[in-house]
Order: sequence, then C-alpha cells, then structure tokens
Amino acid sequence: MDAITSVVDSRALGLSCLDDIKSVAATMSSAQTCALCIMRFLQVPAGPEYLSRSLDDINQALGIEAANPSSNPPTPCPVCLSTLDMALVDQIVVSFKEQGYDATTAAISIELPKSVYVRHRSMQVFLKRSNAQLGSATPTDLKEVIKYMVCQTLATELGVVGDMDSGMRIDIGYSHAASANDHQFLIDREGSSIKTKTFRKHGVYHTTGDSKTAVLSELDLCHDDDFESRFACPPPAIAQPATVGSLVFKRAPIFIGGRYLKLERNISQTPFFVGERRITELSIADVVGEPIKALVRCDAYNLVGSGREDADVRMLGDGRPFYVECINPRYALVKPEQIRAIEDQLVSCNSPVQVRRLQLICPEDTSIIREGEEHKTKHYCALVWFSSPLSQDKLDEINACGKQSILLQQKTPIRVLHRRAPLTRERRLLALELLPLNDKFYKLRLESEAGTYIKEFVHGDLGRTTPSLADMAGVTADIIELDVENVSLDFPPAAAQ
Ligand SMILES: [Zn+2]
Repeated sequence: MDAITSVVDSRALGLSCLDDIKSVAATMSSAQTCALCIMRFLQVPAGPEYLSRSLDDINQALGIEAANPSSNPPTPCPVCLSTLDMALVDQIVVSFKEQGYDATTAAISIELPKSVYVRHRSMQVFLKRSNAQLGSATPTDLKEVIKYMVCQTLATELGVVGDMDSGMRIDIGYSHAASANDHQFLIDREGSSIKTKTFRKHGVYHTTGDSKTAVLSELDLCHDDDFESRFACPPPAIAQPATVGSLVFKRAPIFIGGRYLKLERNISQTPFFVGERRITELSIADVVGEPIKALVRCDAYNLVGSGREDADVRMLGDGRPFYVECINPRYALVKPEQIRAIEDQLVSCNSPVQVRRLQLICPEDTSIIREGEEHKTKHYCALVWFSSPLSQDKLDEINACGKQSILLQQKTPIRVLHRRAPLTRERRLLALELLPLNDKFYKLRLESEAGTYIKEFVHGDLGRTTPSLADMAGVTADIIELDVENVSLDFPPAAAQ
C-alpha cells in the first residue's frame, strides 16, 4: 500500500513529506470524503491503486483509518456521491454480462450529476485553506477513474477491452436526486450566465439551459469568496449515494447481404399495411429477417432491397440483391456456416422465399445497393394479353423494333400517384421480344433500365406512358403476369464471400 503514497507527486502538490500527505488525507476524510476521492485530489492517476476492493487498505496507507473507519453501509462520499463505489462498477458489469454481447471491445461514456462539479469546487476551496497549492491542483478526473474501474473489471471478468473506437457503446448515467439543486445558486447569482427556460411537455415540467457546460463555465466565473458564501465548503454530507440512473448498451449495426427469390405471387418486400389491415400475408422482410434476428439476437432489423417488385410479381433467376441491417446485435461474430444454414432452412421448409449467397457484409458494401439503383438493368418475362391477335407482319415489326433500344416517357403511374410526386421520367428499354403462345396471349421478354414501370409500358396507362406495347400493336394490351428474371447488379461483392 506504500504504492499509493509513492505515486503521489508530493512536491507538485506543495507537500513536503509523507506526513503532509497523511494530514491532507485526514482533513478530507473528516469531511466524509472517500479514500478514492482523496487519491484523486492527491492527483494519483487512474490506475490499479483505485481497484483495491478493501477501502480499509487504502485508508490505512493514507493513515486515516481512525478518522473514517469502514462502516456498513459506508457513509456516502459527498464529493463523488459514491459513484466510485465498486458495487456500482460491479452492477454495470453484471448488467452488461446479462445482455450476452459477444463484443471484445467497448467504448464507455459517463454522465455525472451536475452537483459533482459544484462539490468538486467546494472541496478545492476547502483544501485551499490548508494548502493553496493543493487546492489549486486539478484532481484526477472522476470520469477517467470510473472508466478505468469499469474497463479493468470488464477485462478481468469478460475479456472485453476498452476502446473509444469500438462499435459497442456502454453509456452510463448516474443520478442523485438529493443534490439535483446544488447548482441553483449559480443560476440565482446576479449576472449569472446561465439562462434557464422551463416548459411543460406531456404534463411534466422540464428545465433547459443549465447544461453541464453552462454550470462549469459559471463555476469558472464565480470567485472563491463568492462561492464559499453561497455553498458549503467542504461539501455537505449526503444521506444516500448516487445510483446508476440509466445504463444503455448499444452496438453498431451489422449487415447481412444476399439475393432473394420470390417463387410465388402476393408476397411484398416489406410488411404491407393499409391502415391497420395487413394486405399481404407474407413479406420477404419477415421470412428472411426473422431467422437472422434469431441468429444475431438484434433488437430490430430493416430489409433494404435493390429496388423492389410489386407484390404480384415473382422474382426469379439469380434473385434480387438485398441486405438486412441488424440493430443492436448481441452476436456480431457469427460464422459463415451459421448464416448459410438460414438458406438451407428455407429450402428444407419449401418456403416461397429463398435466399442465395447470404453473408456478412461490410457497412460500406451497403452503398452498392443504394447507389447501384441508377445503373443496374433488369430482365423481365411477362404474360401479355391483346384484345385481338397480332398479324405476323405486326409481330415482326415489333420484334425488329425491340432489337434497338426504345426511349420511354413515363408519367408517374396512376396506381402510385397517391404516394409519389407527379412527374415525367425517361427510361430506356434495352431489348424486347414478343413470342405468341396462342391467339391472344403472348410471352414478352424484355430488358430495361432500373426504375422502368413495366406494367405501364404494356398497357400505356391511359396514354401516360409513350410509346407503349399497346401503341406499337395498335390494339388494347394488358399484363396478366410478370416475373423479374434477372437483376444485373453484382452483389454481394465477390470479395466478401
Ligand atoms: Zn468519493
């Protein structure tokens, strides 16, 4: 335990010998200050000295065993509000463990009650009376010490290493209701820079303007004498210690990419509701997202497709690229074979939705889906009906025309006008082929740029799409069934496989 006194730079603090250190410790201890806060005010940097589970050991090393004997429960520290209590650190680590994250690193952020800053100032003013140099010294930051204690415990108990760049966040907020108004005198002070506003929201009064930054800057403006006349020095005792008021664990999302096939009609890409009523029974997002959610234990998920087909359109061929964003996953270190097992499971249960090339992808790869939208082309196959059979000449003419690209002018279709802005878009058909099946039914194969409204190209949408297949044929045309046969976008990226 000599380690503690040996890491105190007594000369920097204006203390000449060990006895001086002990005398400071005794002074602070007489004001119920905890041993860890005494070490902080003696500028012991965040380190192993703070992790002693026996405060008696620390007290003894500082020669203050008589002044502040350990009691059960111990007297709460009026400086740190007992936020340095090892029991709180253990509570945080146990809660984290219960969540079951497979994270190997974590970034910790801490929010302290504002009264802590007022109480630190109070202790500094108090210390200045006995030692001006010590009172002016900046104590080791409370947050740094808490962070150190939490990180070390996480590392020892769970092998989780502290890393500010980690995607695993642990946000700790301490509360202490009894000292919540400690900083009120700073607001009431004449010429105070803190301007608060009180407003009512949902029947509850809220105050803004007295942020931590505002309190700290007003504390800077308040001279010692003025401070001392308005707030007790040393800080007044407290009956109850601070508690962990909020503890939020949040992990960066992970992304699982692949291609989906939709082998039956009337399946939407995402759950489709009109008002409260669910229109399609199944959605791609449900079929693919639920097993992924079960695998990575995320809070929620979003499926993002590279475009989407209508619910009554099948998605065949090599499938449509998509990714699933998994929010706050407990497991991010999933193995490729665990992900591929989802593909097999959908095959074995004969699901009308199948997935291919399912794999973990980097967050950057999701941009391929979002930006690929403009560049990709799609192959379709449709069953088309004409009001009267086409002559061979007409059929040849249409197919000759379809060997070159055809520029379409498409006004926003009537069927989507309720949710999309009315405008005219240009889209290109790259290839078109019409094959007769019988008198009035034809198979239409075509390749188009992304975003082409295929149904409207066939029937013309009351003249809103020009040219249309109906225009070209000179008779009424309608689309009976539509399948997407290929989406030409290389995704997921080969390198990620
Ligand atoms: Zn303390």
